[in-house]
Parts: sequence; structure tokens; C-alpha cells
Amino acid sequence: MKNTAVNERRKSHKIYVGDVAVGGDAPITVQSMTNTNTCDIAATLKQIHALEAVGADIIRVSVPTMEAAECFKTIKASSHVPLIADIHFDYRIALKVADYGADCLRINPGNIGNETRIRSVIDCARDRNIPIRIGVNAGSLERDIQEKFGEPTPEALLASAMRHVNILLDHNFDNFKISVKASDVNLAVNSYRLLAREIQQPLHLGITEAGGFRAGAVKSAIGIGMLLSEGIGDTLRVSLAADPVEEIKVGFDILKSLRLRSRGINFIACPTCSRQEFDVISVVNELEQRLEDIVTPLDVSIIGCVVNGPGEALVSTIGVAGSKTKSALYMHGVRQQKRMSNEHMADELEIEIRALLAREGM
Ligand code: SF4
Repeated sequence: MKNTAVNERRKSHKIYVGDVAVGGDAPITVQSMTNTNTCDIAATLKQIHALEAVGADIIRVSVPTMEAAECFKTIKASSHVPLIADIHFDYRIALKVADYGADCLRINPGNIGNETRIRSVIDCARDRNIPIRIGVNAGSLERDIQEKFGEPTPEALLASAMRHVNILLDHNFDNFKISVKASDVNLAVNSYRLLAREIQQPLHLGITEAGGFRAGAVKSAIGIGMLLSEGIGDTLRVSLAADPVEEIKVGFDILKSLRLRSRGINFIACPTCSRQEFDVISVVNELEQRLEDIVTPLDVSIIGCVVNGPGEALVSTIGVAGSKTKSALYMHGVRQQKRMSNEHMADELEIEIRALLAREGM
């Protein structure tokens, strides 16, 4: 289906986090952050591999201590996607993880300390061709900016962001991306809008501290979705007080919803009512789990009756429209002779989907 939902994408510089392009014409990437103790290497690697399995393009790992930096070295060696080392204040940790192969440094230059320290981190990033990610957060604005603006406002977040940006630019370093996050959706969106006009570097989108799974997913979808629909944003992280794996799934769901990027199955399912001829909800839940391994973009419509079933099936790769005892099956919008058992819908639909992928080499 043609994408008419979004404005032309803002033209940003392309940078590389490891071998993953961010910005320019690169696909909008989806990232998350581990929430294990970085020094528990086994647990952190397990989580990284779980995030890789659901499609994480980039993963951030906190490195709060020198001990964690040593652990980061081992973790980096066993990770398949680029890792961003998240560092606050301590420039020595930044230098250490750069040595150990970090693909990006998440550190705010204004928080590093004196000029010698700032220069050492920037020179190190330049020598190793590692980007820096500036992360401005409404909850931790600099004291003088708080005093000047009175409260976190889009202008305050922009002022903080530009302070860090200008330090990098003053050192002739433009290999960076930046976020201006807030837990308030309107504040975050308006801050990104201001920043998007000021710089050409890629923007990392996020609604920070968005909340638990449901509320956080909704806030993130609205905030990130508004920006993406305006053409703003090159990479995103959905911040949830939930399993980071869910952050990646929700991130892809946001991109799928705007048809900006596809991965795996896009389920179209009706909300169900008394007309449903099979148990739509359980079939969808079952298939979402069983088909998590599929990465090929595919629209699958699962509709409980003929009111909307045939129409949705026409624009889906595979669709079912509920009918008495056996339901109608559609492939690429064409109704098939074969009918699907309402009772064994999940099993039969899984077989059809996997067979179609194999048949069409998808
Ligand atoms: Fe009800 Fe049919 Fe609409 Fe589903 S498609 S909600 S079963 S009327």
C-alpha cells in the first residue's frame, strides 16, 4: 500500500554506528538498552541476544564504572549488533570503552569536565571514527538553564542541546546524533521540532520515562509517530518500564504503522463482536507468538466475519474472512478454493503463511 501518511523526511547527515547507518537515506533504526547489571556478563549477553532476535539494530549498554568497562569488552566481543556505551561524566570510561570497541559513545560533552578531558574524548572518537550521541533529558537540564527558563520548555531543551552541539562543532567534530527527550509528549515533540531546524545531524527520537508497557507504548507511539509523520527522526528508542524486547517490538510497530519500515508480520485483525465466526483474539495472540521468527514483511488479515473480511483480505498478502464452520482464505487478494477450519484456524493459517513464504522465496 502506498505511503501517503508522512511528510518528506528531513535531510540529515548520515553517520555510522558500527556498520549500521543512521540518518540520510538509511532506514530508521530501532534501538533499545539493556537493563541488566553490565557486570553480569552472562545476563547482559542473554538480553542482547534476545534483542538481536527481535530485530534490534543497535543496543545501548550502561557503563557506569571502570569494572563495567572491562565487562563491556567481553560483551562487545559476543554481540552481533553495534553497541553504544552509555557513560555519564567520567571521560576515562569513555576512553576505555572506545579502546574496547564501542561503536558509539553516549556522553554529553558539556558534562565531561575541563577542556583537556573534552578534547581527549573527542580526539579519541575522531581517531576511531566513533560517533557520539548527545542525550538531553528534561529531567536533568543544567542548573543555569533551569534557572533561566524556570521550567523545562522546548526552548530550554534546545538551549541545552545546542550547548553540547557547539562544543563538538567547536572541535570540528560533526559525527554525532542527538536526542532531546522528555516524559511529556508535547514537550518532547516541540523540542525535537526546534532542534530539527537547527542542525543537520541525525535525531534519535524517544519519549523518556514513558511509563509501563501500555501507557508507555501509547505515549511513545503518539510522540514518535507525530515526529516521524513530519519527516523528523532517524533512529528511535521506545522507553518502557518493561522488558527491553518489548521496546524493540513496539518500535517496529510504530514504523510499520506509518509504513516507514517493515519487519515481520503486520497483523490486521478486527476487534471482534458477536458476528465473529471463530475466536479471532486467540488466533491472533497465538500467531503473534508462533510467527515471531518471520522477518519478511507480510500483511496478514484475520477478520471474524464477512462484513470486513473480504475487503481487508483484498489488500493483504494472506487474509481470512470468518464464515460458518469453515472460513474463506485469500492469497494476494484472490479468494482460494480451499477453506479454513474455524476450529483449527491458528494451525492452518500458520501452515499457509509458512508455505507461502517458502513458495515465493520470501
Ligand atoms: Fe464483528 Fe465482523 Fe466487524 Fe469483526 S469484522 S468486528 S466480527 S462485524
